[in-house]
Amino acid sequence: MTFSLHGQAVSGGIAIGRAHLVSHAMLEVAQYQLRERDVAGELVRFDKAVATASAELDALRSDASVPGAPAELSAFVDLHAMILADPALTDVVRGLIRERRCNAEWAVVQQMQQVVDQFDEFEDAYLRERKQDIVQVVERVLRVLQGKPRKLAKRKTASADDDLIVVANDLSPADTIQFKSLKIGGFVTDLGGATSHTAIVARSLAIPAVVGMQHARPLIQDDDLLIVDGTRGVLIVDPDPGVLEEYRLRKTELELERSKLKRLVAGRSRTLDGEDVELHANIELPQDAERAKEVGADGVGLFRTEFLFMNRDELPDEDEQFEAYRSVVKALGDKLVTIRTLDIGADKEARALRNRAGNRSAPNPALGLRAIRFCLAEPQLFLAQLRAILRASHHGRIRLLIPMLAHAQEIEQTLALIELAKTQLRDSRHKFDDGMEVGGMIEIPAAALSLGPFLRRLDFLSIGTNDLIQYTLAIDRTDGSVAHLYDPLHPAVLKLIAQTIQSAQRVGMPVAVCGEMAGDPKLTKLLLGMGLRQFSMHPSQLLEVKQQVMMSDAAQLAVRVARLLKLDEPERISEQLDRL
Ligand code: PEP
Ligand code: MG
Repeated sequence: MTFSLHGQAVSGGIAIGRAHLVSHAMLEVAQYQLRERDVAGELVRFDKAVATASAELDALRSDASVPGAPAELSAFVDLHAMILADPALTDVVRGLIRERRCNAEWAVVQQMQQVVDQFDEFEDAYLRERKQDIVQVVERVLRVLQGKPRKLAKRKTASADDDLIVVANDLSPADTIQFKSLKIGGFVTDLGGATSHTAIVARSLAIPAVVGMQHARPLIQDDDLLIVDGTRGVLIVDPDPGVLEEYRLRKTELELERSKLKRLVAGRSRTLDGEDVELHANIELPQDAERAKEVGADGVGLFRTEFLFMNRDELPDEDEQFEAYRSVVKALGDKLVTIRTLDIGADKEARALRNRAGNRSAPNPALGLRAIRFCLAEPQLFLAQLRAILRASHHGRIRLLIPMLAHAQEIEQTLALIELAKTQLRDSRHKFDDGMEVGGMIEIPAAALSLGPFLRRLDFLSIGTNDLIQYTLAIDRTDGSVAHLYDPLHPAVLKLIAQTIQSAQRVGMPVAVCGEMAGDPKLTKLLLGMGLRQFSMHPSQLLEVKQQVMMSDAAQLAVRVARLLKLDEPERISEQLDRL
């Protein structure tokens, strides 16, 4: 049956393909005691469910062997079939039904918990992660038991061209970053906000994604045919042939539009009235540097180093970090690379730091010991990163960016630690760029409203609009239930951004915007009119923004935006924005 769901559009484009359900939460199942005489029937019901689940996997396997189908699909299927065939799972479940008279669903869930707990004890990180597969296999059996068998009928499309579409209740940034090494066509989640880091990673992967769907996970089954319209925030399940055809056409058109934009790579990023505008790239992992180069970025304006710390049990040591930073600098040649120090905490969790500060179990993680606060509380860890970045600065042009600063004393403490790192490096005879510039992110309203210490003590500023909006409007950027109130055009937000740009420019300090606003082509003219000349965004957005720059008259925009900034009614602000 065809149906559609709506959510928050977080990453544009169209993906057409098969659902791959992933789950964190154990499904809610009925738990009851069987009557003695029902036990035999329950055993048969369980065995049948296992057989059906196994047949589903066989059907999936034959699809996975179609040329061009993602290799990961076949690996998923083999592993799941192996788990399902393992008596360690099924025999114990039968025992629980027979001896404890648990209903089949309850027995399955109990045994899953047992096995998952054992996996948690494993030393080997890869094995530990495999518990996710156990959960998925159990969910497959549960769905059959609960009367939601998978359709085994012939699918409506040839699978060779189909994408793998991940459907989840929620995904963490750590989950999503792993998609960089998998061939994922798109994803949808029931939770999440438009500027959560999960959404940011989707944009950096340039795959269509919709979050905050609310009901996708329970309504969709593995292998359902899906269309993800990442631009409109729509998910279509089991589409009619006509709709499918229309979307295939639209997808091809979009690809064509994208490839046309490539013509702009070599062109100069300059407004009609001759103002040069720097367009930098935001990256999460060293390999992203290639994408930045492909689109002709002027440099890296934000390297979110915390992603190097995720999905692993040991922290990256100084040497490993040095190699990662150096590889980015080398890839960028003579271009500037802005490396942001560890911004861990809130929605960005690192397993290896779980028991230290900065995790989600804090009462208010977004207001807690995250980013620079965490680093100042963990000076050894911070010093190792500072030394690694300094060492890499010997191999190219690096500047250092500090996240989440609000207090003058945080700036002083940070600068003192940078000096200490330099002394340590001199002692160990390591080379580094002694003049490496240090900048601060403006992403807390207090910082924007009290810029003095930033202007006096630092070399440059970068406005993090994602957090600036979150903290100005008191909207958790990861919470879908308040996502409608997360408004980059709120007059208070616009004033803070404009004032920061103007104050920096008055004293001749370079200022950039590196939050998601910088990569939104609908806002390019607004930011240009505020005087912004340095933008940093995902490489996938850079050429569209460049196109906007090349169609703008900066002097004219300055006059119009000055007028817009005097407004305080949202409708009039959007009206004026449209006219820009
Ligand atoms: C921001 O807050 O705008 C920013 C660029 O940093 P992050 O999104 O990583 O918090
Ligand atoms: Mg931020």
